[in-house]
Amino acid sequence: MKPYKNKINRIRSFALSLIFLGVIIMYLGIFFRQNEIIMLIFMVLGLLSIIGSTIVYAWIGTLSTRAVQIICPNCGKATKMLGRVDMCGHCREPLTLDPSLEGKEFDESYNRPTKNKNSVNK
Ligand SMILES: [Zn+2]
Repeated sequence: MKPYKNKINRIRSFALSLIFLGVIIMYLGIFFRQNEIIMLIFMVLGLLSIIGSTIVYAWIGTLSTRAVQIICPNCGKATKMLGRVDMCGHCREPLTLDPSLEGKEFDESYNRPTKNKNSVNK
């Protein structure tokens, strides 16, 4: 079992679920037709989450330009990775840019910008 996903894929699915959430919230608003204020609140919330997902999509765009494209040693496909450690987008092979972390167990805490040695050694 590999619980972690490739970061870019994960953010992308988050943005997608935000769109669905927005549509569902707006749809729920229809049931409150009688009360205009509640309906308006639902519509605004739905709109906000759709706007939020567009922002997340734009954010993925800027992240992708900064991501390093590498060839996965496990499946041989090209994948983009973020941070010091990430997962292959195709086979979820743990990947690292830092040779000192090679062979170590995958841990997302390596990506934390502020190094706290106590938490890493746990
Ligand atoms: Zn792979």
